[in-house]
Amino acid sequence: MLEQDEFMNLSKMNFDVSEEQALVLEQVDRACKEFRPIEDKFYLEHKINDQIRPFFSKAHLLGIPTSRKYGDGQGADMMTYAMAVERIGREGTGLRTFFSVHMALGQMTIQHWGTEEQKARLLPPATRGDKVLAFGLTEPSAGSDPASLTTYFEEKGGKYYLTGQKMWISLGSTADQILVFAYPKGRREGMCGFVMDTTTPGYKAEVIPHKLGLPTADTSTVYLDKAEVSKEDVLGPPGKGMSVALSGLMNGRLSVAAGCVGVIQDCLDEAVRYAGVRFQHGKLIGKHQLIQRHIGLISLNLDAAKLLLLKAAFIKQKYEEDPKNVDLRDATDQAITKAKYFAANASFDAANRAVQVFGANGYSLENRPARHLADSRVTMIYEGANEILEQKIALGSLGKGFEAYS
Ligand SMILES: Cc1cc2nc3c(=O)[nH]c(=O)nc-3n(C[C@H](O)[C@H](O)[C@H](O)COP(=O)(O)OP(=O)(O)OC[C@H]3O[C@@H](n4cnc5c(N)ncnc54)[C@H](O)[C@@H]3O)c2cc1C
Repeated sequence: MLEQDEFMNLSKMNFDVSEEQALVLEQVDRACKEFRPIEDKFYLEHKINDQIRPFFSKAHLLGIPTSRKYGDGQGADMMTYAMAVERIGREGTGLRTFFSVHMALGQMTIQHWGTEEQKARLLPPATRGDKVLAFGLTEPSAGSDPASLTTYFEEKGGKYYLTGQKMWISLGSTADQILVFAYPKGRREGMCGFVMDTTTPGYKAEVIPHKLGLPTADTSTVYLDKAEVSKEDVLGPPGKGMSVALSGLMNGRLSVAAGCVGVIQDCLDEAVRYAGVRFQHGKLIGKHQLIQRHIGLISLNLDAAKLLLLKAAFIKQKYEEDPKNVDLRDATDQAITKAKYFAANASFDAANRAVQVFGANGYSLENRPARHLADSRVTMIYEGANEILEQKIALGSLGKGFEAYS
């Protein structure tokens, strides 16, 4: 634990926003403001928003954390990236999920594990939005325990053929390429990661209907029937697929934490605005102490969630600069897990309180708190369900030998 403490010293962390960082954040803020009416329309019509890719591609904002070497990559450091995703998160968890999957689970994972050839081939079109990326790990019988997945691959004539079913895959029906994980046929070890074109014969996806929230986001079931991948598209060392998947999830969790901080901010803004215009019992509801309690608690959680996020982003940046440092990787994993867990739960609580401040008007999807309530619920499930993260956080203190499961 001592080694980890070295990376956790808050007094060494600088959260000042530089001019360069501010420029990226202003660009994101402008795009989000312009995009809000478009997302609103799709939300109320309960349709998957197919305008995200063209709009944010035109704004050159689909490669924020990816190196400038590749296409539209902005090369943002992890603090800038986290703050950018936080801003996107204010617009809603559906929109933010697109960015988490395409940039964090997709591009960041390729950037970390890809060969130079793969990065040069796969990242430029992804950063420009010419190719959108999905991430297919979960299966009908393998969620929190991805090691139990049953999708398998066979090797024939220098190609791989994947067979199985992936479930709850964000962007599964709209992405052009998917990072997908499978075992060699007949084996329960040696998992491999692949980047597969979704146009390959044998790939089929169906949108999952009737979700609790995220109506503007594509969440799909993916069927693989001898779907072909070339040798050049094996991601990471053969047999190290689980490590590739877990590192992808770490990237994804940071972006979920950031998005949830954005949700809390939006709930606070909405609750404060409404409490300042709604009169009951002869005064503004913001003057009633019990309404003040809701607003005070949202604000408190916002500060706590944001500090955990910034700390996690700061440590992640150190890890990006020293990717072979295993202590730093573990410290990053802990910090990100804590930030994601706290922000996910706090965002749902903030949405619930904001709905309460709005009264009956909070029950209408015309108003933002209702949407946040429905949409933020998923953040306690995906990218590590609450229970899994609680055990992971405990293990950070208890140390090896106390694993709740293998
Ligand atoms: C909208 C949406 C989008 C998603 N997008 C993607 C995506 O793009 N790609 C992808 O691969 N997956 C995606 N997922 C899947 C998501 O990552 C999984 O739902 C998540 O990992 C949990 O798995 P599960 O749903 O199978 O739940 P299960 O693993 O079946 O868990 C059920 C419950 O049991 C608890 N539990 C399980 N194991 C333990 C344990 N050892 N100890 C204590 N409690 C335990 C869980 O915490 C949970 O409360 C998405 C899911 C949703 C809802």
